[in-house]
Amino acid sequence: MRRTLILAGCLIAAALLACLQERTPKPLPVDAPPQVFSAGRAMADVRIVGRAPHPVGSAANMAVRDHLVRRMAELGLSPQVRRMDSAAYRQVGDQSNVFGAVVENVVGVLPGLDRTAPAVLVMAHYDSVPGSPGAADDAAGVAAGLEIMRALKARGMARRDVMLLLTDGEESGLLGAGAFFRADPLARRVGFVLNMEARGGGGRAQMFETGPGAAETIALFSHTAVRPASSSLAVKLYSMTSNDTDFTRSRAAGLPGLNYAFIGRQFDYHSASSTPETLDQGALQDIGRQVLAAAAGAAFAPALPREGGEAVYANTFGSGVLAYPPWCGWIVLAVAAALWGLGVLRARRVAAVDWRDLARGAGAALYLLLLAASLLRLARRATGVPFGFIEQRALTAQAGLFEAAVILTGLGAALFAAAALGRPRSCRVCAGLGLATALGCLALGGPDLAGAGLGAAAAIMALPTFGRPAGSPGAWAGVLATGLAVTLVVQVVLPVAGFLPAWPLVLACLAAAVGRLGASRSLPARALTALAAVVALVWLGGFVHGVYLGLDMPELLAIFAWLAAFAIWPLAQPAGQSIAGRALAGAALIMGLGLVAWVRFSDPWSARHPRPTLVAYQLDQDAKRAWRVSLIPADQSAWTHTVLTADGGRIGRAGLRPLFRRPVEAAPARWLDAPAPQLTLAPAAGGQVALRAAPPPGARFLTLDLRADGVVEQPMFNGRPASILRRPGQWTHVRWEAAPGGFEVAFKPVRPGAIEVRYAAVTEAWPAAAKPLPQRPADVMGFDVSDSTVVTGSRRLTW
Ligand SMILES: [Zn+2]
Repeated sequence: MRRTLILAGCLIAAALLACLQERTPKPLPVDAPPQVFSAGRAMADVRIVGRAPHPVGSAANMAVRDHLVRRMAELGLSPQVRRMDSAAYRQVGDQSNVFGAVVENVVGVLPGLDRTAPAVLVMAHYDSVPGSPGAADDAAGVAAGLEIMRALKARGMARRDVMLLLTDGEESGLLGAGAFFRADPLARRVGFVLNMEARGGGGRAQMFETGPGAAETIALFSHTAVRPASSSLAVKLYSMTSNDTDFTRSRAAGLPGLNYAFIGRQFDYHSASSTPETLDQGALQDIGRQVLAAAAGAAFAPALPREGGEAVYANTFGSGVLAYPPWCGWIVLAVAAALWGLGVLRARRVAAVDWRDLARGAGAALYLLLLAASLLRLARRATGVPFGFIEQRALTAQAGLFEAAVILTGLGAALFAAAALGRPRSCRVCAGLGLATALGCLALGGPDLAGAGLGAAAAIMALPTFGRPAGSPGAWAGVLATGLAVTLVVQVVLPVAGFLPAWPLVLACLAAAVGRLGASRSLPARALTALAAVVALVWLGGFVHGVYLGLDMPELLAIFAWLAAFAIWPLAQPAGQSIAGRALAGAALIMGLGLVAWVRFSDPWSARHPRPTLVAYQLDQDAKRAWRVSLIPADQSAWTHTVLTADGGRIGRAGLRPLFRRPVEAAPARWLDAPAPQLTLAPAAGGQVALRAAPPPGARFLTLDLRADGVVEQPMFNGRPASILRRPGQWTHVRWEAAPGGFEVAFKPVRPGAIEVRYAAVTEAWPAAAKPLPQRPADVMGFDVSDSTVVTGSRRLTW
């Protein structure tokens, strides 16, 4: 009972401290001292840049550009607008993709003492996605960039120049940054890059990407950081995803640097709700002060970080960062192993430690990992919210609730395993819970075979593990042994991730050694056990929050339930016949799953979190037929239903290529005339033929699918060699933003042939001649290019 009370106290204390740790700092007011970063001051620019959606090429974006030029001039940065056409290429399976636009980067320079020294570049993108004011992504980064330049200037002349690059067309394929690092002579002056992004409308700023070989960069980071949130593992994980930002381009150019983004309030990411009013000003303060610290550190340093080895690092508490070379991970592991051995020896001196208890402890650790993973997959599916970038908004609208649900569920699994291990005949109930979870996974969402497999594996694992009660010292030693084994493997396979199991392990092994694996009843031993538990839980809490926000994969949190078990085990496995431990575990599980039910059955939509809708009026110019379409598969809203059926048609399915690959929900609509894109094929210089494509007047973008029926050579996009039309019959997808001049695809044919063109042009306006859209209720919003007119069709052009 007493242990369980201490444990409950530790859990509550850790939860409070973890919440404090994840809280964004207080935004500083407009009259804060000039040398510091003030979110209050930066908000003035956020309110102008993030007033309305301003995608690349739009009139709103040009107004933003003019504002930025004015602001940079005021700051004495001698701004220039660098206009270039830019294209990005991406091969996905058999399809080549081209994203192109005319971009206008805005660049200014704050002169330093040595004008020839490599400069520090502060970077953010000023364009938004269509349909979102982008107050967070990336008006916040842009405004922070301006405020950082102002604060740097107030600190006196730095050793080197600091450049501010506000890129255009990031959302359309990193087009501004691509053009800058490829072709702008100013890029050759850059020696260090600091980029600012946003993934959501709030939350702590994370440093999630570095340049290649970042040991020296991390040294700068760890010396200058103000309450940072970062680790070598987070950076590694990000590098393994397909996400990118402008920093991808500077990194590819071999430049060192640091990439920051705040992540939180994810509902607002790329959403109409991302307004200056909903922006978390604490997040702006956080990213601004962190990047200002790094920028000042680099600008005033005698030398910039160069490319070198790797570093293992993670933030600890406050402004602390622990960083060391990867081989030092072996020392950390050796310390943990030595402490573990000492704990076992000391415990054996008092009483025998049964080696079978050790095996049961290890089994319980594995059981809790499998059970938690299965339960968490079940919890995600039980919300009934589909997976997908737009679809999961029903969940991000209730992000806090669902986070509490998964944390309680994961923790509940760990507490349950520990409480069960000390009791006789727990085998049946443990196997039963595994089986019940497996059946739940089969019944819900799909069925989810992976989740069911994990639950079934937990049930099998329960049979040898929970047959007999295990003594607490041996069991804890067994749990810690799984930590030692996994840390060893991670240290070999992925040394930059080794710290994650190693640091809580060292703490827990220290408590185990001092407390003779939990048997000691001395006050210092007990105090140390409780302290280790709280410290480990708070530190892990930061990672849990990050993983929860970063990926829609709650099952990964099972790893953290297992890591938490290292330190809480001696408190969670009750002595004797006490049922308090089981009661606590049961309470956590019931509360966790209860919150899941709450998330499922409550209405997520409100004026603050409106339901996303994405409707369009499609004019199929080949068939001369029109459709009212909805591009969000799970959108069953009454508003969308009214829009789709307004011309009396029944909802079915239709194709929307090349705009959208999947079929969309569509109902017949009244046919209307609308201008088509201009597509011409004509001979060009050097035996080439050139396809010229221009969007209809006022279009937001034009997409084409192109396919040549024979071999073509020397393919070019806007006069530059391009990896497109690689094989006869293979599709190349082109998306061209806004610019009315259009683009040119040229190639040298080998023999007479034809090119097949499918087009979709999107104009951000509902057709004037169509029945107008009904008013949206306050809890419904348009998403992306909703309410647009889409003209589709095809051509076959021969040469
Ligand atoms: Zn962005």
